[in-house]
Amino acid sequence: MSTKTVPLSAKVHEVTMFESVLARLDAAAKLMNLSSELAQILRNPQKQVKVSLPIMMDSGNIQVFEGYRTVHSTHLGPSKGGIRYALDVNTDEVRALAAWMTFKCAVANLPYGGAKGGIKCDPRAMSVGELERLSRAYAKAMKDVIGINKDIPAPDMGTGGREMAWILDEFNKITGEDNPGVITGKPIALGGSLGRDAATGRGVMVNTLEALKKMNLKPIAVTAVVQGFGNVGSHAARLLSEQGVKIVGIGDHTASFYSEKGINIAEALEYAAQNGRVLKGFKGATEIRSEELLISKCDVLVPAALQNVITEENAPKIQAKLIVEGANGPTMPEADPIIHEKGIICVPDILANSGGVTVSYFEWVQNKAGYYWTEQEVNAKHDEKMELAFDAVWNNKGKYKTSMRIAAYITALQKIEQGVKLKGAY
Ligand code: GLU
Repeated sequence: MSTKTVPLSAKVHEVTMFESVLARLDAAAKLMNLSSELAQILRNPQKQVKVSLPIMMDSGNIQVFEGYRTVHSTHLGPSKGGIRYALDVNTDEVRALAAWMTFKCAVANLPYGGAKGGIKCDPRAMSVGELERLSRAYAKAMKDVIGINKDIPAPDMGTGGREMAWILDEFNKITGEDNPGVITGKPIALGGSLGRDAATGRGVMVNTLEALKKMNLKPIAVTAVVQGFGNVGSHAARLLSEQGVKIVGIGDHTASFYSEKGINIAEALEYAAQNGRVLKGFKGATEIRSEELLISKCDVLVPAALQNVITEENAPKIQAKLIVEGANGPTMPEADPIIHEKGIICVPDILANSGGVTVSYFEWVQNKAGYYWTEQEVNAKHDEKMELAFDAVWNNKGKYKTSMRIAAYITALQKIEQGVKLKGAY
């Protein structure tokens, strides 16, 4: 996806999402003195597959969709990453998201590489039958890419347990085996893990609490704004408010709200559940313009919706002391130095939203063992992993005197470098 136009000599150059990843990778590689061979390898995804998916629509007409799966790295294990259904899915975006998964899994210390997939479509404009046919066609087309010890998909934007169930069923029919661990984020009845649904939001909560501790702030003494009220944002807002954080702002693609007194998140959740899962029309706070949400008064800002929302233009106006990135890629590279110079701590996406893939890993482990844990067990294991990951990044932040984002990349690259060295080959 093109993100911004910057003048490059006389020409106008579109900074792509993958270039945003490379900018951070290069900065970290330089600081830690990463071998140039490994840097070069990680600048190039291992496998990029693009398929065309002809689907019979309810109208009786055939429509052809584009499907993607990019495996960025398998240096630390089988590749792992979600599948998104959205209109802006394209080669560059999937490539960037796949690379982020490599770094995310390495930061969280999971035995995985990184991948991402997607279908260019508008799931909100499609019927359930059309979505099922599309998901099954995707599974069929990607049958040689995915596999329980090869490449393990999961949900991402526009997908959830329902889509995972269709993909799993189709894949198992093709292979003739019942292998629930080939995909994660499944419904519980099909081998999903308790705690997976709320896991990304839970990871955001744990990372927020860890950062607040370092900043000597108590959860009950801070306010937060959460942008996005889907799977990540709604759970993050709920879990943070359960920890005593006062949520003063929320918003989704339909409307944004602010209340100095605090928003009752249970009420907002109830409202969205009754209102087609959107916040438009919510009466529990004052409606504000969506551009105001990120720059409104708060201590903690959680961008948990789309990529590229924190820009060079709005970064100087951000009032929060702490940013915790629930979304993938919410901050553009140009905004990084502005945030850093303002003294804002930013827990980057590859750490802050790694709770989802962490519980995906637990789901895969449970599927392989055929033995299932309680929700408390899953949550306790998740929290422990997140705290360790946060500490590793925080230590590298001090050691390399850099931002948390670059420290997170360094943490990931150190692990990948070690793995590659031990294997002795690329
Ligand atoms: N799509 C999620 C992410 O971006 C989860 C990936 C997974 O569970 O494999 O982290």
